[in-house]
Amino acid sequence: MINFEALFKVSYGLYLVCSGDKNKGNGYISNTFFQVTAEPAKFAACCNKNNYTTELIQKYGAFSVSIINQDTPPEMIGTFGYKSGRDIDKMAGFNIKYSDTGVPIVLDSSIAWLEFKVVQTVDVGTHLMFIGELINAELIDESKDPLTYLYYRQVKKGVAPKNAPTYIDKSRLNVNSKDSSLKKYKCLACGYIYDEADEDIKFKDLPDDWLCPVCGSEKSDFVEIV
Ligand code: FE
Repeated sequence: MINFEALFKVSYGLYLVCSGDKNKGNGYISNTFFQVTAEPAKFAACCNKNNYTTELIQKYGAFSVSIINQDTPPEMIGTFGYKSGRDIDKMAGFNIKYSDTGVPIVLDSSIAWLEFKVVQTVDVGTHLMFIGELINAELIDESKDPLTYLYYRQVKKGVAPKNAPTYIDKSRLNVNSKDSSLKKYKCLACGYIYDEADEDIKFKDLPDDWLCPVCGSEKSDFVEIV
């Protein structure tokens, strides 16, 4: 038997993985990025095959990783985590650096950045796991803590998007409704669910300028769900 609640006990960091070039760059928020060897330093990044960034990493053979901090604005997570680079230019308005491989490196809300050359690609089904050899690393701001998946879930109340390797369909969780008069509202942009059973205030009573805590979408972007 698999209790999917147990999977939430696995800890992860949240990172911004980018690739492309000066003309067309793209990135996404990843929680499956981790070091696999020390000498030489190699890291793995698991990317959904449907992600535009995955295409770019295959094309350019390189990627960057920005280690984002706990104060990363929800709008930034919304842009990189819940929108597609096929529809918008995700890099617009961000402070971008280009180093040896020419891939974009996002500096906003970043504690440090790392740059990799892809040395191996492993097909793991829905995702490609890119093994990157570290070629550059720099610290930007040591005053803040890195954003972890636990912090994102518990403090920011974020959820994994459908393309994430760790996405769990809510229907697989044991959710008990405490009060049938309490409703749930879902953000159409990112999937975040405002569950009145877990909140002190009903959704309709939230101020008009209230924004989705995950992606920064407006209240009008939410729909009631059953
Ligand atoms: Fe949202």
